[in-house]
Amino acid sequence: MTMKDRRINVEYQLPNLCANCAAKPAELNWRISQADKIDSKTSFSITGRFKTTDTYRDLSFRVGVCKDCEKELKQEGVINGVVIGVGCAPVILGGIGLVAALGSTAFTGVPRTVFIAIMAAGIIFYFAAAKLVGKDDLAFRSIDGKKFTFRNKKYEAAFAKLNPKLVSRKYSEPAA
Ligand SMILES: [Zn+2]
Repeated sequence: MTMKDRRINVEYQLPNLCANCAAKPAELNWRISQADKIDSKTSFSITGRFKTTDTYRDLSFRVGVCKDCEKELKQEGVINGVVIGVGCAPVILGGIGLVAALGSTAFTGVPRTVFIAIMAAGIIFYFAAAKLVGKDDLAFRSIDGKKFTFRNKKYEAAFAKLNPKLVSRKYSEPAA
């Protein structure tokens, strides 16, 4: 399967293999969402504030996966979403509480350290959970969009065979 990326002017061949297990043939397309910051400009406005403008390049692309792995990848996404949500909630709530406690007489009697502790608990949870359930991305591209990296190295080797110039790792030349 030939894929063309006009935005970056790169053309690549996808092996007819599932990018996740590299054992079964690809049956469905799986979108790899990726956007990388390529530029960041800071300017000083008339009002005396710094304004930062970031430019992102959309590097999303598609790979083939098998039906079983599509299910697995969807679950992975849900788990990541839950981890982020559960970790962020106390950080946000603690932050709101802290700002309120610093700014007014609201929450008098509640020590500020309580809010800081709530925020810290959220952050610790997030890192612990991310380490426990987090996985590398299935695939990603270099910032210029021209080098591909895959979590499954067997798939990456198959990809490298078809696109020798589009991988960062060195793979020995296939025997002629
Ligand atoms: Zn698979």
